[in-house]
Amino acid sequence: MIICAATNNPGKLKELCRILEQAGHTVKSLRALGVTLDPEETGTTFAENAILKATAFCQATGLATVADDSGLCVEALGGAPGVYSARYAGTHGDDAANNRKLMAALAAVPAGARGAKFVSAVCLMLPGGQSLLCEGECPGSIAFAEKGENGFGYDPLFVPDAIGVPGQNATAPNAEGRSYAQLADAEKDAISHRGRALKELEAALPGFLQKQPAATVAQG
Ligand code: IMP
Repeated sequence: MIICAATNNPGKLKELCRILEQAGHTVKSLRALGVTLDPEETGTTFAENAILKATAFCQATGLATVADDSGLCVEALGGAPGVYSARYAGTHGDDAANNRKLMAALAAVPAGARGAKFVSAVCLMLPGGQSLLCEGECPGSIAFAEKGENGFGYDPLFVPDAIGVPGQNATAPNAEGRSYAQLADAEKDAISHRGRALKELEAALPGFLQKQPAATVAQG
């Protein structure tokens, strides 16, 4: 299926592309489609924002569109930064500032009380207005210092409880306490919030598409 990956976040785009392409889809970025829209994320839940973004970009591109709204929910912060993860420190998408603010907010929080989870809501919107919404979560904790170079956003600070085992459809305990940013792509995708939401989407897709009029879905 030809899918527009509706994100202006390069890190997220990379993950959406590799996961959706591995599932056999042809993915078009906003850049490739010449779309420069930046819809305001006015929702108060991940699901609301995912639907809002998928709707806006689907209307702009006329293609089946997948949008992800995601974020980090930290127990000691009452679930913050949550839907405000991208703009936690004030400027949208300033990962370094967001990570610094998170470190400062948790400076006095001891090991054992640093639980957190990443959440992703993924919305597939068809040009006819039909949509499919899936959610994924990844439990873990917040490290005391940044570690690792891979990924984006809060990756250097988030230590998932489990990691994927490359080449096998399996997960294993994260015994070494590696951060998202220390994982290989396959190790992250198998357990990540986004990987899980997209896996659920993939499983629900055939049934969802079967219900749609043929003209609303481009094959590719
Ligand atoms: P939004 O979905 O565009 O509102 O932005 C989500 C924000 O959550 C990103 O800007 C990152 O700060 C953070 N985020 C979401 N997913 C990940 C991830 O996989 N790793 C690290 N940070 C993430």
